[in-house]
Amino acid sequence: MNMITNHMPTAELQALDAAHHMHPFSNQAELAGRGARVITRAKGVTLTDSDGNDILDAMAGLWCVNIGYGRDELAEVAARQMRELPYYNTFFMTTHVPAIALSARLAELAPGDLNHVFFAGSGSEANDTNIRMVRHYWSAKGKPGKSIIISRQNAYHGSTLGGASLGGMIPMHQQGGLPIPDVHHISQPNWWAEGGDMSPEEFGLARAQELEKAILELGEERVAAFIAEPVQGAGGVIVPPDSYYPEIQRICDKYEILLIADEVICGFGRTGNWFGSQTVGWRPHIMTIAKGLSSGYAPIGGSIVCDEVAEVVGATEFNHGYTYSGHPVAAAVALENLRILEEENIIGHVRDVAAPYLKRKWEALADHPLVGEARIVGMMGSIALTPNKAARAPFAADAGTVGLICREFCFANNLVMRHVGDRMIIAPPLVMTTDEIDVMIARATRALDLTLDKIRADGLYA
Ligand SMILES: *Cc1c(COP(=O)(O)O)cnc(C)c1O
Repeated sequence: MNMITNHMPTAELQALDAAHHMHPFSNQAELAGRGARVITRAKGVTLTDSDGNDILDAMAGLWCVNIGYGRDELAEVAARQMRELPYYNTFFMTTHVPAIALSARLAELAPGDLNHVFFAGSGSEANDTNIRMVRHYWSAKGKPGKSIIISRQNAYHGSTLGGASLGGMIPMHQQGGLPIPDVHHISQPNWWAEGGDMSPEEFGLARAQELEKAILELGEERVAAFIAEPVQGAGGVIVPPDSYYPEIQRICDKYEILLIADEVICGFGRTGNWFGSQTVGWRPHIMTIAKGLSSGYAPIGGSIVCDEVAEVVGATEFNHGYTYSGHPVAAAVALENLRILEEENIIGHVRDVAAPYLKRKWEALADHPLVGEARIVGMMGSIALTPNKAARAPFAADAGTVGLICREFCFANNLVMRHVGDRMIIAPPLVMTTDEIDVMIARATRALDLTLDKIRADGLYA
């Protein structure tokens, strides 16, 4: 008998949760005080909590439930795979059919000569793999000095020691002695917050050229790779000016450093193509994948690696791997998810229907008195809250104060929309219909109205 039940009173579940369950990215004391919301089931784009509320999930869980909740096919594939072969490893000259089939399918889907997959259990683990892989690559080519990985401030690359070091989140670096050595951060292409008097195009170019400056300062013979999300997700859905992307590619080409595209959010349809790199015109040597790879139905991630890197790394033993690399159940679930994405033309739905419709509605939010810029790529968008659009001014309160107020109003209106500082962000399931988009925008607008009323009363909207 297990103890999992949906029939305990909410308060009892919350008390047990606060007493025994340590939550990620949470203040446990605060959580114990108010009680976590208990999600009991989900279908399509809608979550249901233990009090019976239906909540529109504009974040697709954590940016991952691309095909929506409640797809029986994935449950059936998982059950079948568990009966047939629940586990075997891929170390020591063994393999199994789900890992073979999934790696072959990913090689087909990935652009260019990205033909090889190293599996991990998550995006963070995959980025740890990438750190070791690119350093080992250069070392095997007789250039062990090329060990520095350049990343960006306010990037998110995961929560392991390696992933969080690559990431540029100061509050994460402040805990646990990060970053690890030989990780260097350049500035992010966030024009709204940091563009000053420059035009967006000038600013995009200037921020990309920081990569070139960093390579020259650190020394070309020291730099192994540049890693970036095609569109920063957890940093606040920061969509760079158009001038940014080609300049980054030019610099990577010129200095022959490896480009790692962290596709954990942007991959698998989020931006209207299979991969965000295709949307922004990058030609990466390695892509990090997770999240939408399985639509969150099973924990799996990996690195899709180009021919050249795979060949060099594969010429000797790579002393690296996870017990669950290519886990057969997770791999089978991911394959089924990819089948659904393909056969139901979900990426076509994003490109031709959902994203253009959402873009119009989302950009119209910029007319709201509380909203400065509204940015969106495919099915990931953000709005910057401000008391003064023309000046792109922050609020006269700690960053995130107003964003948090808005998020609470969203929750109270049965909408999950996150805040990053004073930016509100969405990344809904890709299967969202236009009717559901209307509901999402209506609830978001109501939350913005309520937020404006409250901060006017609090004297924060001057
Ligand atoms: C979520 C995320 C990760 C980390 O993935 P986990 O599966 O949580 O370890 C890495 N990179 C990006 C861009 C992400 O959004």
